[in-house]
This record gives sequence, structure tokens and C-alpha cells, in this order.
Amino acid sequence: MYLVDYHTHSSYFSPDAASTMEEMCEAAIAKGVRELAFTEHCDVNGWNGIPCDFDEELYITALDRVKEEYGDRLTVVYGLELGQPTQNSGLAKRYLSSPGLDFIIGSLHNLRGMEDFYLLEYPDMDTCRALMERYFAELREMIGYGGFDVLGHISYPLRYIRGRAGIEFDFSEYTAELSDIFRLLAASGLGIELNTSGLRQPVGQTMPAPDIVRLYRECGGEIITLGSDAHTAGDVGAGISEGIAVLKDAGFKYFTVYKGRKASFVKI
Ligand SMILES: [Zn+2]
Ligand SMILES: [Zn+2]
Repeated sequence: MYLVDYHTHSSYFSPDAASTMEEMCEAAIAKGVRELAFTEHCDVNGWNGIPCDFDEELYITALDRVKEEYGDRLTVVYGLELGQPTQNSGLAKRYLSSPGLDFIIGSLHNLRGMEDFYLLEYPDMDTCRALMERYFAELREMIGYGGFDVLGHISYPLRYIRGRAGIEFDFSEYTAELSDIFRLLAASGLGIELNTSGLRQPVGQTMPAPDIVRLYRECGGEIITLGSDAHTAGDVGAGISEGIAVLKDAGFKYFTVYKGRKASFVKI
């Protein structure tokens, strides 16, 4: 099985990560991961009140260094997790056109004017519904803005609504909304990622969940990457083979990899 990990963070560039780039590469090689994408946090609207100061030149230099050291055993993919692009579109534009990147995930960690979903309270179902409607609206806005390759961890709020607040909220009442978002993505030439971090967290499922991956496929979705969202070397490659099984069940025959912002397809 050809294993890849297209969503990871290192302590050099992501404030919430714990392992160095070298440790991440060594873990990938030890686990048989053939392509490792560093997708460091670049939240253009700032992070915890701190304005974004992501230095893409320093980043490329660091990536060149690990590629030099590990490139004979591992394909190092130069990625970025661009957070909230539409909340600071001028700055987002700069990173989206940054030369030297292979792959960009567009993510939504917080709604405009609000804190990360991780920091919100979920007292009841009505609050969840109201937040989810705003979440979908901002996802649509991001798709309209475009410029990235895949939409990151769709259903991110469920990680906390289900996993922490214990509210049995799911996407069953949003099938029409999601179908529309997926058709919009496909028409825009964008994809999604299957983020496997939920498999090792209380929510216990991939983001998005398998039934939503199937819906994406039914709506014409073809581009899908696989990522562990590892923030430590121990999590590199975690859940990727389970993720491949989810794709297979959903009817996918390929998953997607990137080089120089161009997609290619690996047979499952
Ligand atoms: Zn993220
Ligand atoms: Zn991430």
C-alpha cells in the first residue's frame, strides 16, 4: 500500500506542534510513509490575537534542508494550511501565490469575529445549528475565493460538538447543503481532504465522516487527499490506511497527491 500523509505540523513553524521537521521525517520513513507534506499553520487572520507573521522564505529554506537530508528516502511535499483566507484576503493572496509550494489546504478554524471552534461552548442543539449554518456559509465564501487545493477537515466543529460537548449532532439534516457545497467544489476544480485525526480523538471518526465522503463522491468529487494532522512524530501516518479503506468504501479508486500545485492520482 502506497502511504502518504498530506497534513502534518512541525514545531519549527506551527506553535501547537511538538516535534521537529527531522523527527517528523524520521517517523514517516520508519512507518513506510512515502510522501510527507508539511502543512504548517498560516492563519492569516492571526492566531490567539497575534497577527500572522508566517515567513514563507524561511519556511522554504527549512524544507529544502530536510529534503536534502531525507529526500532519497521520502518525498517531502511543501505544503501549507492556510487558515481563514477570506478573513484577511489580501494577506491570503500573498501566500496563495507564494512560489515553491506544492500543496495548500484551505481551512476554517474560526468563524469571522469568533474564536476557534475548539474554544467555543456548545450548550445546546440550537447553538450548534446556528454555528453550523454560519460554518457552511463561510465554507461557501472560501470556495468562491478559491486559490487553495483542498478544503481542510470539513466538519471540524463536530470534533468539539460531538467529541467534547457530547451532543449527538450530525450532518443528516444538511445533506442538501453539503451536496451543494460539494458540487461547487467540483465545479471549481477544488477538492477536500480526509483528515484522520478524529480517529484518535474522542469524536472517533474521520473528518468528514465516511457517509459524507460517500456523498462527496456522489456529487462528483474526485480530488481527495489523506492527512493525519499530526502535531507530533508519533502521529505521523496515523489512520492513513483506515482512511484509504474509507475512500474505497465510498467508491474512490484513487487518492490525490500534489507537486508544484498540480494534482495527480494514486491508485488505491
Ligand atoms: Zn486545521
Ligand atoms: Zn492542521
